[in-house]
Amino acid sequence: MRIILLGPPGAGKGTQARFICNAFSIPQISTGDMLRAAMKAGTPLGRQVKEVVDGGALVSDEIIVALVRERIIEPDCRGGFLFDGFPRTIPQAEALQSAGLPVDAVVEISVPDAEIIKRMSGRRIHPGSGRVYHVDFNPPATPGLDDETGEPLIQREDDAEDRVRYRLDVYRQQTQPLITFYRNLAEHTELRCLTVAGLGTVEAIQSKLASALAIESPS
Ligand code: AMP
Repeated sequence: MRIILLGPPGAGKGTQARFICNAFSIPQISTGDMLRAAMKAGTPLGRQVKEVVDGGALVSDEIIVALVRERIIEPDCRGGFLFDGFPRTIPQAEALQSAGLPVDAVVEISVPDAEIIKRMSGRRIHPGSGRVYHVDFNPPATPGLDDETGEPLIQREDDAEDRVRYRLDVYRQQTQPLITFYRNLAEHTELRCLTVAGLGTVEAIQSKLASALAIESPS
């Protein structure tokens, strides 16, 4: 099963990706996570992309396509994979097409901009574990501190409100056109395009995704 998860930053792709990946026993490939790991480790790639990622713009297609190309030849991708945050541009989608790995489903999680801004500007992260909190919706027991370690929480640089607004513009301009791209592709291939509203509880969205993807009986 090969799945692409599309949706604006803050739509809950990461959370829902884990659920879908468990159901199909496929790895989650998040280009954002891969870039952040490289930045944290201070690798040449991490240093090269840091400014762009922190500013909320897109890393070049060349870098991303090379990163994904290396990742999908790993043995754990033999049975498929889920892309979370890739492709983000038409050239990236075309590069994936030419890799000869047809995608089975494109799932869009749609969320209005105002809701995204509310969600993301309140998001806080525990850098050591990746645990995610929200100052209103999922606050830690002690404000500003991780529940398990008591260590300070941080706000991702690109989660600051002005960056979120900019990332939404980038999404609408560069990534949203992929929905039409994949709908057109679905007209003459086996590809399925699904849209799920990303509002409500995590569980409610999960159950909408489960029925859309027929997760009870994955083929
Ligand atoms: P994400 O965690 O998916 O929101 O990604 C965080 C940041 O990483 C984005 O704002 C971009 O700067 C960069 N990034 C992640 N995936 C891609 C991609 N497919 N193409 C270009 N830039 C990307």
